[in-house]
Amino acid sequence: QLENVGFIGLGNMGSHMATNLISAGYKVTLHDINQNALKYFSEKGVPVAETPYQLSESSDVIITMLPSSSHVMEVYTGTNGLLNGTSEVRPWLFIDSSTIDPQTSRRISRDVSSCHLKENEGFTKKPLMLDAPVSGGVPAAQAGTLTFMVGGLEEAYIAAKPLLLAMGKRTIYCGGPGNGSVAKICNNLAMAISMIGVSEALSLGQNLGVKASVLTNVFNSSSARCWSSDSYNPVPGVMQGVPSSRNYEGGFTSKLMAKDLGLATASVAEVGLNCPLTADAHNIYKRLCEDGHESKDFSCVFRYCYDGKDD
Ligand code: NAD
Repeated sequence: QLENVGFIGLGNMGSHMATNLISAGYKVTLHDINQNALKYFSEKGVPVAETPYQLSESSDVIITMLPSSSHVMEVYTGTNGLLNGTSEVRPWLFIDSSTIDPQTSRRISRDVSSCHLKENEGFTKKPLMLDAPVSGGVPAAQAGTLTFMVGGLEEAYIAAKPLLLAMGKRTIYCGGPGNGSVAKICNNLAMAISMIGVSEALSLGQNLGVKASVLTNVFNSSSARCWSSDSYNPVPGVMQGVPSSRNYEGGFTSKLMAKDLGLATASVAEVGLNCPLTADAHNIYKRLCEDGHESKDFSCVFRYCYDGKDD
C-alpha cells in the first residue's frame, strides 16, 4: 500500500532521503522546480513528474522536503498543487518533513483531511497527513540515520514508520497534527540557546586565563555538559571533526538556524509567552547572517560574538 512514493524537494536533504528510499526498493517518482536536481535523477532512470499534482496522480504517499512554510503551502494548495483545488486526492498518506511553523502544519493537515480519496482506489478512509521534520542534518540524511519527530494521527504514524525508517534510524511520535513541528522548533531553540551559552562561558573562561580545552573537560564532567560542549564544541581546536575545526564550514548553516528561530519567535507571539532568550537568540543569528556569515555553521556564534580566540 505504500509502494509508490512521490518525493518533492531534492535539495541538500531531500536528494539523499529520496536516494535512500530508492535503495530500499520503493518505487519513487520525483518533483522539484530545480531542473538540474531532476536531471541528476532522471539520467539514472528515476521517473520524474512536472507538477506536484501530476506526481500525486501516481503516488500512494507523498513526502515533501522543502525550504519553508510558503513553499509547502504552494506545493499543497497552489495551482497544480497536490490538493489542486479538488476535493478528491489519490495518495492516502501525506508526509511533510520540512521544518515549518506548527500553525502551517496544522492548516495543511486540515486541508488534507477535508479531502477524500478518489473512488475505486479501494480505500474507504480519508487521506492522512503527518508532519515529520527531522534532526541530524545532511550527513544523517546521506547515511540514512535521521531522527523523525512526528505529529498526526497515530494510525498514520504506524503506517508511515517503515517508510521513515528507510531514511532514518529513529522515529518519535509527538501526538496530534503540528506536534512534530512543535518538537522540531523547540529542539532547535534549545540548541541555539545552549550553543550561545557554551560559547559565552568558554569565552569568559579563556579571557580569565583558562584554556577552552580545560574548561570543556570540566563542563563535560560537570553540570554544564550538553551537546554543544561535548559533541559540537564551538571553539576551534577543542574537538576534531566538527565545523569549528574547519573554519565553521559544513554542518548546519546559520541561515537555517535564523529561520528556525524566526519560527520559534512567531510561535512565542502566537501563544503570548514571555521568552526573552528566544528573542535574544533570534536577534543574534539575524545579525550574524546580515554580517555575511549566513553560510557558516551556526557554532560560528563563538567567533562572531566573542571575537573567539583559538584554544
Ligand atoms: P534546500 O534548499 O537544499 O532544498 C530545498 C529543495 O526544494 C530545492 O531543491 C528546491 O528547488 C526545492 N523547492 C523549493 N520550492 C519548491 C517548489 N515550489 N516545488 C518543488 N520544489 C521546490 O533545503 P534543505 O537543506 O534540503 O532543507 C529542507 C528542509 O529541511 C528545510 O525546511 C530545512 O529547515 C530542513 N532541515 C535542514 C537541515 C540541513 O542541515 N540542511 C537539517 C534539518 C532540517
